[in-house]
Amino acid sequence: MKELHCKDVGFDCKGVLRAENEDELLKQAADHARTVHNVKQLDAATVTTIRSKVRTV
Ligand SMILES: [Zn+2]
Repeated sequence: MKELHCKDVGFDCKGVLRAENEDELLKQAADHARTVHNVKQLDAATVTTIRSKVRTV
């Protein structure tokens, strides 16, 4: 499983996302950012940050 802690990306948030693989995790991150943080679209820099913070669990 892949896991992303939202706070690792720089948000003040306790959210933890989990998915089978990194691509699915990125989709969840995009959904989470939109619904929780009101971020309409993840920019390239944020996606790079997310990819660097993904943990394998
Ligand atoms: Zn969050």
